Amino acid sequence: MPKILAVNAGSSSLKFKLFEMPNEEVLTKGVVERIGLDQSFFKIYVNGEEKKESCQITDFSIAVQLVLNKLTEYGIIRTLNDIDGIGHRVVHGGEIFSDSALITDGTLKKIEELSHLAPLHNPVNVLGIRAFQKVLPDVPAVAVFDTAFHQSMPEQSYLYSLPYDYYEKYGIRKYGFHGTSHKYVTERAAQLLERPLKHLRLISCHLGNGASIAAVEGGKSIDTSMGFTPLEGVAMGTRSGSIDPALIPYIMEKTGKTADEVINVLNKKSGLLGISGFSSDLRDIEDAAAKGNARGELALAVFADRIHKYIGSYAARMCGVDAIIFTAGIGENSDVVRERVLRGLEFMGVYWDPALNKVRGKEAFINYPHSPVKVLVIPTNEEVMIARDVMRIANL
Ligand code: ADP
Repeated sequence: MPKILAVNAGSSSLKFKLFEMPNEEVLTKGVVERIGLDQSFFKIYVNGEEKKESCQITDFSIAVQLVLNKLTEYGIIRTLNDIDGIGHRVVHGGEIFSDSALITDGTLKKIEELSHLAPLHNPVNVLGIRAFQKVLPDVPAVAVFDTAFHQSMPEQSYLYSLPYDYYEKYGIRKYGFHGTSHKYVTERAAQLLERPLKHLRLISCHLGNGASIAAVEGGKSIDTSMGFTPLEGVAMGTRSGSIDPALIPYIMEKTGKTADEVINVLNKKSGLLGISGFSSDLRDIEDAAAKGNARGELALAVFADRIHKYIGSYAARMCGVDAIIFTAGIGENSDVVRERVLRGLEFMGVYWDPALNKVRGKEAFINYPHSPVKVLVIPTNEEVMIARDVMRIANL
């Protein structure tokens, strides 16, 4: 049975998960952290047990060598020939990729050309792809894009109301992100609802450190909260989400910061961290709010309020909604956020059950049986989507 490695290369980390397909069994998973920095380390799960070692990893080639060596050393595969396909998460596919793509020289060139849209991510994704190519040149590899699922958005959703030639000349439009996750949970929701995806209007709330909401009609994304970059939309761990753009020059004038410095504040010092003043991690915010900390409470209120409003607007956008889905770290685990997001939505047919809402980290319906709109918690699984796409695109 084919073995597929799903890879996610970040700025200084390389995560991997090895699947046996088509049964989707996870043979192992692990991560190389702090690549190119001091105190790098490697983690891998062997028979469910975590093995961790510190090592010196100066670049992605060494990280890839290490991963492949360890897979054989721990006997998870016999030889490198056991790997039948590799799937790479790639952040930005621009308007070129509306589906995953087999990696060829041409594909790699296009991913590199799209770097202007994702300067922090695409070049690193390419590094990861090339590092695997060097060691396993004959193994088919597939790129799976965060933006691809949202390429189905109609013009009215993806265009900003700016001069139209900005779109034509500079590619200024909404791209959206977290596409692999929104696709996975909406497909899974259709299975759990036992209804064909093509008849469903779904609102998917991916709430992790980054957060985005998607309106998915008939299995296609028709709108999403993230935009040209992942900064737009709801408030996040450290990102502001949407703000009045006129604030940028105003903040520059008031604080003496440059445009880049202000964008850095919007990306790294805002959201839950900015409002609470003490943490970007929702668990800290919840604990503080429960103890009566006013700024923690406010951060929680702002976070939930934006999501609540997106749900209302996407229900209007689709002229109704059949189910709302919560996923990712916060969506899967925080009954507190889910409650605040859902509170008051009875007017549109959302009747959720506080007892069922206590669930953490597993698939569940949290609506009352009579609720016209169903509410689901579905742990996301971007890696399995990557493995499935390798099987499909590489024809394995
Ligand atoms: P990333 O976008 O980095 O992949 P995750 O999906 O892992 O993020 O989500 C991280 C967020 O999930 C953090 O804010 C964390 O506090 C929150 N989270 C994780 N577990 C819990 C929990 N048990 N209760 C509340 N929040 C949680």
